[in-house]
Amino acid sequence: METLKNLEIGKSAVISKVGGTGALRQHFLDMGMIPGVKVTMMKHAPMGDPLEIRVFNYELTLRKEEAAQIEIEYKEKPSDSGADFSYSTAEKETSTASNDLLTSHPGLGEDGKYHEKETETPLPAGTILTYALVGNQNCGKTTLFNQLTGSNQHVGNFPGVTIDRKDGAIIGHPETLVTDLPGIYSMSPFTSEEIVSRNFVLKEKPKAILNILDASAIERSLYLTMQLLELDIPMVIALNMMDELTGNGGSININEMENLLGVPVVPISALKNEGVNELVQHAIHIAHFQEKPVPQDFCSKDEAGGAIHRAIHAVIHLIQDHAERAEIPVRFAASKIIEGDKIILNMLDLDFNEIEMLEHIVVQMEKESGLDRSAAIAKMRYSFINKICGKTVKKPHESKEHLRSEKIDKILTGKWTAIPAFILIMTTVFLLTFNVLGAALQGLLENGIDFVTNLAATGLKNAGVNEVLQSLVIDGIFKGVGSVLSFLPIIVVMFFFLSMLEDSGYIARVAFVMDRLLRKIGLSGRSIVPLLIGFGCTVPAVMSTRTLPSERDRRMTILLTPFMSCSAKLPIYAFFVSAFFPKHGGLIMGGLYFLGIVSGILVALLFKKTLFKGEAVPFVMELPNYRLPGKKNVAQLLWEKSKDFLQRAFTVIFIGTIIIWFLQSFNLRFQLVADSQQSILASIAGILEPVFRPIGLGNWKIITSLISGFIAKESVVSTMEILFGDVSAAINSLTAASLLVFSLLYTPCIAAISAVRRELGTGWAAGVALWQCALAWILAFAVHFIGSLV
Ligand code: GDP
Ligand code: MG
Repeated sequence: METLKNLEIGKSAVISKVGGTGALRQHFLDMGMIPGVKVTMMKHAPMGDPLEIRVFNYELTLRKEEAAQIEIEYKEKPSDSGADFSYSTAEKETSTASNDLLTSHPGLGEDGKYHEKETETPLPAGTILTYALVGNQNCGKTTLFNQLTGSNQHVGNFPGVTIDRKDGAIIGHPETLVTDLPGIYSMSPFTSEEIVSRNFVLKEKPKAILNILDASAIERSLYLTMQLLELDIPMVIALNMMDELTGNGGSININEMENLLGVPVVPISALKNEGVNELVQHAIHIAHFQEKPVPQDFCSKDEAGGAIHRAIHAVIHLIQDHAERAEIPVRFAASKIIEGDKIILNMLDLDFNEIEMLEHIVVQMEKESGLDRSAAIAKMRYSFINKICGKTVKKPHESKEHLRSEKIDKILTGKWTAIPAFILIMTTVFLLTFNVLGAALQGLLENGIDFVTNLAATGLKNAGVNEVLQSLVIDGIFKGVGSVLSFLPIIVVMFFFLSMLEDSGYIARVAFVMDRLLRKIGLSGRSIVPLLIGFGCTVPAVMSTRTLPSERDRRMTILLTPFMSCSAKLPIYAFFVSAFFPKHGGLIMGGLYFLGIVSGILVALLFKKTLFKGEAVPFVMELPNYRLPGKKNVAQLLWEKSKDFLQRAFTVIFIGTIIIWFLQSFNLRFQLVADSQQSILASIAGILEPVFRPIGLGNWKIITSLISGFIAKESVVSTMEILFGDVSAAINSLTAASLLVFSLLYTPCIAAISAVRRELGTGWAAGVALWQCALAWILAFAVHFIGSLV
C-alpha cells in the first residue's frame, strides 16, 4: 500500500483512500483530498517535514505523519487538469441542468411546507440588511470588505471570543451592515475561527450571504458555496481574482454558472475595484426581496450518487420537525449529520429511536455507495463541482502568478536558502523598525511629547496651579502615558512590515519552513512570527497571535512571547554590562538573549506536558501565490492598530500611571513626600525586601527601580540612577548579574500585560505577571547562589 508520504517529488498519483479520524479527516476531505483526486508532490520543507503538495491547482502543506494516512495509487496518466476525478458516470451523464430540476430532489428539500416560505416578500423598509462575508482564506475578503465599506467600519469582538469582528455599512447604503468573517474552507468547524464563522451564519441569521470565491482556486471555493447553498439564505456570489484568471487566458461562463448554482454570480476584482458596484446592486436586491437560492440537486445520477440522494431524502424527512425547532435549515442539518457532525446532531435533539434510524440509513448508504459517510458527502459535493466547472470554466494556462511564485519559492523555501533568506528578511525588518524608520519616528514623537509636556508644565506653573496637581499632570500622566505613546511609531512600522509579509504570502512559507522546529516544543510553524516580534516588543507580538488558527496555539504562543527579550530591556543590559563586565559585553548580552530563549523552550516543554496537553493543530495550510498587498488593506490595518493602541494608552495605562505616581508621591499617611524614600512605593519595596534578599537584590532602591520597570523597562536604569546616584559604586558585580537575569525574565511591562489581558482575559494576564516573576526569582537565585559559592 502506497501513501502520500512516500510520493516522490515531482511525481503525481491519485488518492485512493483517506485514513484518519474525526475533524482532521474531515478537514482533509474539505480541502479537496478525496478519493479519485490527483495529487502532485511539490517539495519537502528544508528540514524534511512538512510536505508541499498540489491538489486541483493550489498548493497545500501537510505533515508527513498526516500524509501517511492518505493512500494513493499510481495511475497510468493522471490528466493535467487538476480536477481529475475518475468519475465513471459524472462525465457520461448527459442530462442538463433544466433536466435535473424536473426530478424531485433534495436540493433544498421538496416538502411543500418548506417551499411555501419561498414566496418572495420584500423586507419592510428600514430593515437593516445584514450580510455575512464568507469565503476561503486569502480569497480577498478583507480587500473586498475595505472596498465595500471604505472607512465606515468598526472593529469589535465576536460575542464570547476574542477574534476580531469587523462590521461596516456599504458606501452609499447606510441601511446595510457587512460583517467580515474569518476565512473558512467548509462549514465543518476545524479551528476556533471556523466555529465563529459557522455560528455567525447559523445563529445571527444574516439577511443574506456574500460568498466570495477565488476564481483561480474555483473548485475549493465552490466546496464552501455548496454548503452555504444548503442554508437557504439569500446569497450572491462574488467571483474574485477575475483579473488573474482572464490575464492567464482562462474564462468563466457566468450565466451558465448562475443557472447551475441558482444564485447570482458577479465577476469582480476586489483589488482593482472592478465589478464591485454590480455586486452591491445584486446584494441589495437579493437581501431586500429575500431571494433564496433556486433549489438544485447536488447528487450525481450514478450508483453512489443515488444512494447519497436517497439517504439525504430519508434523513430530511426524519429530522424535519427537529430542524425547525432548532432553527437549523433542514437540508444543511441533514448533510451535516450524515457527514457525522456531532454538534449539529446534538442541536437537533433527536430521540433515541431517531438516532438509531439515522445510523441505519447512513450504514445502508455507506454500503450502497461504497464510501464512508464523510467521504460520500465530500465526493457528492466535488462531483457536482466537477460538473459545474466542466460546463462553465475554461481553465487558464499555467498562471504567471504561479510561475512567479515558484521562482520566488526556489529561494525562499529552498533547501539551503530558506533559512538564510528568512534570517536576512527578519533582520532587515528589525533593523528598519527598531533602528531606522521606527526609531527616527519615535525620536520625533518623543520630541513632540517633550515639547507639549514642557508647554503644559510652564502653563500650569504660570497659572499658579496647586503643586500636587502639577506633579500629577506632569510627572504622572504626561510622563507615564507619554513614554508609552512614544512606542506608537515602532508598533505602526512593525505592523506595516508584518502586514506586507502576511498579505504577500511569505508568512505562510515561514510557517512551512519552521514547522518542524516549533513542533518539537508543541507549537506549529505559524507561531514563529509572534515570537520573533517579541524580540522587538511584546505588545505587537501578543497582538499578532490573532493570525494563529487554533486557540491552544494562540494561548501558548502568547505565554511564550515574554521570554523573547524585548528591545526596551536593552538599556538595562547595556548599562550593567558596561559598568560591571566590560570585557565580556557581547558574550553576556548574547548569553542573556540565549538564556531567555532556552527558558522559553523549557517552559514550552513544560506547558506541552501540563497546561496545553495535546497536539499543535495539524498543519494543513494553503500556500497562496505571492501577491502584492493592496494599499487600502495596509492603510486600513495601520489605522486600526494605531487606534487600538491609542485607546489602550489612554485607558489602562492612563490609570496605571496615576496609581504609580500616587504611590511614589505620598507616604502612608497620605502626605506628600519630598524624598521618595518615605513614599508608599518605598514602603512596599521595604515589605518586599525579604523576598528579594535571597537573590541578592534586598535593597529598597533596587526594588523600587524594578517596580518602576513594570511601567516601562527603560525606566529601571533611570530610576536606579536617581535613587543611588552612582550605581556602580553602590552594588557589586554579583548583584549586577542577579539583577540582569531577573530583569530578563520578570513580568513584562504594563503595556504588554494589558495586551495579554485583552487577548486572554484578566486571569491569564495576572498569571503571566506572577509566573514570570517567580521564574525570574528562581533563576536569579541560582545565579546568586552559584555566584556566592564561586
Ligand atoms: P482574505 O484573507 O480573504 O482577507 O484575503 P485578502 O483580502 O487579505 O487578500 C489576499 C491577497 O489577495 C492580498 O495580497 C490581496 O492584495 C490579493 N487580492 C485580493 N483581491 C484580489 C483581486 O481581485 N485580484 C488580485 N490579483 N489580487 C487580489
Ligand atoms: Mg482577511
